Amino acid sequence: MAYYIDVILPIPVEKSFTYQVNEDEARFLKAGMRVAVPFGRSKIYAALVKQVHKSAPQTYKAKEIDHIIDEKPIVTSMQLQLWLWISSYYMCTEGEVLRAALPGTFLLESETIIHKRKLDTIPQDQLTDAEFIVVEALHHQSQLQVGDLMQLLDRKKVLPIIARLIDKGVVQLHEELREIYTPKITKYIRLHKQYDSEVGLQEVLNILSRAKRQREVVLQYFSLKAKINKPVEALLLQKQARATAQQLKSLVEKGIFEIYELQEDRINFTGETIGSKTLSEPQEQAFSEIKKAFTHKDVSLLHGVTASGKTEVYVQLIQEHLAKNEQVLYLLPEIALTTQLIKRLQAYFGDKVAVFHSKYSLNERTEVWDNVLHNKTSAQLIIGARSAIFLPFHKLGLVIVDEEHDSSYKQFDPAPRYHARDTAIVLGQLFQAKVLLGSATPSVESYNNALVGKYALVKLVQRYGNILLPEINLVNSKEKHRKRLMTDFFSDTLLRAITDTLAEKEQVIIFQNRRGFAPIMECMTCGHTPQCPNCDVSLTYHKYRNQLRCHYCGYHMAVQEQCQACGNSELNAKGIGTEQIELALKTLYPDAKIARMDADTTRGKYAFEKLIDAFETEEIDILVGTQMVTKGLDFRKVSLVGVIQADSMLNYPDFRAHERSYQLIAQVAGRAGRTAKRGKVLVQTYNPYHQILQQVSVNNYEGMITDQLEERRQYRYPPYHRLIKITLKHKDFAKVESAASWLCQSLKNSLTSCEVLGPETPVIARIRNLYHKNILVKIGNKVSPKEVKRDILRVQVSFKSIAQFRSVRLVLDVDNQA
Ligand code: ADP
Ligand code: ZN
Repeated sequence: MAYYIDVILPIPVEKSFTYQVNEDEARFLKAGMRVAVPFGRSKIYAALVKQVHKSAPQTYKAKEIDHIIDEKPIVTSMQLQLWLWISSYYMCTEGEVLRAALPGTFLLESETIIHKRKLDTIPQDQLTDAEFIVVEALHHQSQLQVGDLMQLLDRKKVLPIIARLIDKGVVQLHEELREIYTPKITKYIRLHKQYDSEVGLQEVLNILSRAKRQREVVLQYFSLKAKINKPVEALLLQKQARATAQQLKSLVEKGIFEIYELQEDRINFTGETIGSKTLSEPQEQAFSEIKKAFTHKDVSLLHGVTASGKTEVYVQLIQEHLAKNEQVLYLLPEIALTTQLIKRLQAYFGDKVAVFHSKYSLNERTEVWDNVLHNKTSAQLIIGARSAIFLPFHKLGLVIVDEEHDSSYKQFDPAPRYHARDTAIVLGQLFQAKVLLGSATPSVESYNNALVGKYALVKLVQRYGNILLPEINLVNSKEKHRKRLMTDFFSDTLLRAITDTLAEKEQVIIFQNRRGFAPIMECMTCGHTPQCPNCDVSLTYHKYRNQLRCHYCGYHMAVQEQCQACGNSELNAKGIGTEQIELALKTLYPDAKIARMDADTTRGKYAFEKLIDAFETEEIDILVGTQMVTKGLDFRKVSLVGVIQADSMLNYPDFRAHERSYQLIAQVAGRAGRTAKRGKVLVQTYNPYHQILQQVSVNNYEGMITDQLEERRQYRYPPYHRLIKITLKHKDFAKVESAASWLCQSLKNSLTSCEVLGPETPVIARIRNLYHKNILVKIGNKVSPKEVKRDILRVQVSFKSIAQFRSVRLVLDVDNQA
């Protein structure tokens, strides 16, 4: 009797592969375990078992596996089911899903490079002989490939040894080393345990009766601790007590104080939790409506205006599920938003909160993965960006998708090009968990789902504390220019408002959806603008670094003194970027503290946190930013928001441009006047009569939805039609042209029930030296998307069998965003 297993290989091969195993192995193996399998001529991969069975593959002879890696499954059957859904819905391979889903530490292969960790002591007594040999070898050689180890140990079965050494924390993968992230360690100070009481304090004061300065420091420590109610930073104490480092040191030497270290992102949680806030009446109402809806619907949409206190409603719901020992997943569109949220949720739920996102190190991610897998209480409430949907949940009871309208929920590159909101709904179904979508500006798709009764709809129409929504005024830039009332990019209206706000010691947010100094440098003589050599776009001028940069591929060059086309030296910057606005404001308001928040200023792991902290503690008066400043942030003293130029986003060539503009403006406006008095918003535009601007200025969300739905119906876009975008890429323009027309024609022939549009040259026709062509498939509501996808895959197979097209890259994007 022969036994077989189907496995997922972590590479983009179309189908799953079948390997042969013996009876013992078949009995031992379970879905979700890793096995080392040979692939190609000499490669070994850690592959994931999907199922064990007895039917030999039809078309090839199954190879034998090399060996089994895991003792227990590392992936649950629910995960396998979800991944299968993702691969078929988003038209990618299971291997691609596997790669996105598993932290790199699980993806071993023969080329994997391992290093020894820097450890003070190696726990030698805990190592087996083979493990010891590996560690010894790494002593003499800083790195080894898995393949080297096979020779060294004279056996093939090395992946389990490596897996165990990773587990024991003795070796690490090369990928981890490349992570530049080093956690920021801060020194804290506390009284030695024996003195940490009132009696103890007396004792200390007695001991120090003749050291007046040191006594003072101890007293300062107590008052500081009472005031801030969290760990006391050593430096802070030193500053407050005007002590010298030597004085602190001798207190430590006397055994009165002790110094300890904490990792920056773990300190917010002090070990003490507070009770949740009492809900207002509207919040209470929304909360009970959601609960009622959940008795007969799996998905609810909470449409609550900005600062209506949606988070507090989520908190109540989370509390109920945690009390039942269920896991809760809290999704955020962008990890940038977690800083404030982690603080808020940790205050309520303490160390039950875990954070999972791609900016964290591999170690940290692996740790959260393990904690979720083993259903530890330290990972009962998981906050994460989109990739958190891949975690090995056990008893998932609730998924919250906050800011559900946000387009960053959709993964763009590489495959799987999944939408985390939509995938979260499928994840919820698998666990029979409830899914709550929340937003002040729900997406047209979700709102429509609520309107047709697929989701329950719950509304919060007023801000917490009954504060009025901000007053939004449109400023006509055209008229201001004509009347010469513009200074740089600011109308007199906006400048006056900024001046008034600063005078009242309140804060300002200025939004412009464009980073850099100015989008375009133009020669005044010949009109030449420097272009990216790899992409069909103009380079963006970054003044601070004196560079021209491509925002698509990262290409950059120093700014040229002269036009490269005609040699003339008069160059002019056109358009407005955040950097330029920041600079102009600094000239206009030399006394104000001005900072900028965009992709350029928030690269480091803590850069974003620092900016937010500084803004929260009012070390910054004016914050200039891209759409980063529009999202979900909760500041108390912002009373003015200015939008420099609303027009470019309205005119963006995308069917969602109007919806997006509404959302962006409503969201950035929502940052104003959240806690005390009504906020003010000024939107500068050349087109003040634009329907969207009119709607957003009076908060007419429903009106916007009605219009957008009508347009979508007319032009056959979602939610009435599903879209699949097919992009062809190649460095040879002629090749991509002929491939695109062949593919488009074949799709038109075979998808008779769909609309096939194209091939179209996109606005940016070349990126990173590859020419692009797009084909768009529109699938009507009466047509089965499954069948259409099957047909597309069939055409794809024929396409790939044509020799001359083989090198053309095909990208399938289901439910594409732009
Ligand atoms: P949203 O998520 O709807 O934008 P938040 O949950 O951030 O709104 O709430 C806005 C502000 O109001 C926050 O500063 C929050 O602390 C405060 N808030 C909301 N609900 C309550 C409540 N029930 N009690 C006290 N403060 C509240
Ligand atoms: Zn480029």
